[in-house]
Amino acid sequence: MDSSPGQRWLEIDARIAAAALANNRQPDEITTIVVTKFHPASLVRELYEAGVRHVGENRHQEAMAKQAELSDLPLTWHFVGQLQSNKAKAVAQYCSVIHSVDRASLVSALASGEKPLDVFLEVNLTDVAHRGGVEPSGLLALAEEVLERDILTLRGLMAVAPLDQEPAAAFDRVLGLSQTLQSLAPGATDLSMGMSADFEEAIAAGATHLRIGSAITGKRPLAP
Ligand SMILES: *Cc1c(COP(=O)(O)O)cnc(C)c1O
Repeated sequence: MDSSPGQRWLEIDARIAAAALANNRQPDEITTIVVTKFHPASLVRELYEAGVRHVGENRHQEAMAKQAELSDLPLTWHFVGQLQSNKAKAVAQYCSVIHSVDRASLVSALASGEKPLDVFLEVNLTDVAHRGGVEPSGLLALAEEVLERDILTLRGLMAVAPLDQEPAAAFDRVLGLSQTLQSLAPGATDLSMGMSADFEEAIAAGATHLRIGSAITGKRPLAP
């Protein structure tokens, strides 16, 4: 890629707006979070100058250091990765939205701080029970845990389309789970889904929060 991250942001932002309009949606109903994991704070600053206001990270140590370096910028920090309960309070100090809530112990840990947080419940769409996401069968019980805590606002669902599935089919499934969730939590209408390779399908399916990394940042440097 010859273009700069700032130019790529503008290109992707235009594609997002076009996809929204093509689906009879308003571009401003969609929040684009640029996932900047493994990239330095200098790249985040460059993106800020190009107009980015929401950034996503998936590792606490790295995210905390970057946020500290960029505390002069009015950015909203989103946590999108696996989160250990013992780091939850620390993450809540600099993130205002947690997209990866997948178990009751994490809900308790996030609620034990003093800071109000917006949370998404991550659903596991794969056939294997693994660490990322609550099983669909456990979704409502987990939602109840969040609804009991005044300090947490349940925004909706987060999902990653599995590699072996059509993204559109995976996102439709999330939409169905969202209807179920709304029967319990009518306000939890948001959908955090869509990444570099599938954000247009996600917009067609109703995504409100896109999490886009490499299409904007460029290839990620290797994990330190
Ligand atoms: C890295 C990451 C993204 C962005 O992925 P790209 O394919 O680079 O757009 C989105 N969501 C989560 C949870 C991630 O970890």
